[in-house]
Amino acid sequence: MNPLRVAIVGFGKIARDQHVPAIAATEGVELVAVADPNASLPGVPHAATLDQLLRDGPEIDAVSICTPPQARQRQAAIALAAGKHVLLEKPPGATVAEVMPLQAAAQKSRRTLFTAWHSRFAPAVEPARQLLADRKIASVRITWKEDVRVWHPGQAWIFEAGGLGVFDPGINALSILTRILPGSLVVQTAELYFPSNCECPIAATLELRDMRGAPIHMELDFRQTGTESWDIHVETDDGDLQLSKGASVLHIDRQAVSVAQATEYSRLYAHFAALIRAKTSDTDVSPLMLVADAFLTGRRIEVDAFHE
Ligand code: NAP
Repeated sequence: MNPLRVAIVGFGKIARDQHVPAIAATEGVELVAVADPNASLPGVPHAATLDQLLRDGPEIDAVSICTPPQARQRQAAIALAAGKHVLLEKPPGATVAEVMPLQAAAQKSRRTLFTAWHSRFAPAVEPARQLLADRKIASVRITWKEDVRVWHPGQAWIFEAGGLGVFDPGINALSILTRILPGSLVVQTAELYFPSNCECPIAATLELRDMRGAPIHMELDFRQTGTESWDIHVETDDGDLQLSKGASVLHIDRQAVSVAQATEYSRLYAHFAALIRAKTSDTDVSPLMLVADAFLTGRRIEVDAFHE
């Protein structure tokens, strides 16, 4: 079988840290080009833009779009129109509505569209989902705190409109939550902390409910210093469950449970290749809808200006 020829569009931190090694480690998938205004990878053909890449080659079968979310929709639309399969880094767009026409375009062109929620491929997620399927949720507590200066150095887009601010990492927690809890979730209230010089929040507190009314408390903060907290604690009618370190570690009733240690992004590329083989798409926008609802219902609180 011919390898799947992938181009990465937007060659920044996540492309270098995760996509390049994951593509190299995935059988049947090959990195054949990079499109980015400035950045490139030695030995791999480079174009400044996706339009230029599609015009001048090399030939590709698929694109992984790793640009900031504000640029995604247009790039995905032209890639699908050119008959390419599309993997969208999270979040799949800067708005919920812009993802819908992409689903229609993928169907029309009979290509795969994959809204890739990488945190759902963390090792503790599937065991947690299976365990919670038969339990009644009593409450959930999410703590997602990291130092923006350490994890997003120089990424001005994150605090610009459409960049999501602290929801850029926070949406990872929501992508896990919407995967492991049965049924849909609803945002009840939100407090959003906007630095006086930024267009997006630097911290947020959310209260949500699951379909049976169980309370979900969520705290997000980009001002954390020292060790980050990427934890989800679920109390159920039959004991408790803790996913920590971004769902790479699982505790059930405070006992560590061993989970498979494959990396998120190699699983993610295996899933993308499987979707293409099956001629289907995977386009869940529920985590982005919850973020949109937090912005819709949220009370805005101004805090100190942020300077990197
Ligand atoms: P980044 O380091 O700022 O990289 C984005 C890259 O895209 C930059 O090289 C940028 O070039 C380029 N770019 C901007 N507009 C473009 C366009 N129209 N065409 C082609 N390239 C363009 O950001 P990142 O951290 O990699 O994040 C990118 C996406 O991945 C975000 O949605 C983020 O949520 C997601 N993600 C990030 C992480 C992480 O830990 N960083 C983890 C998972 C997912 P310039 O810098 O020259 O503008």
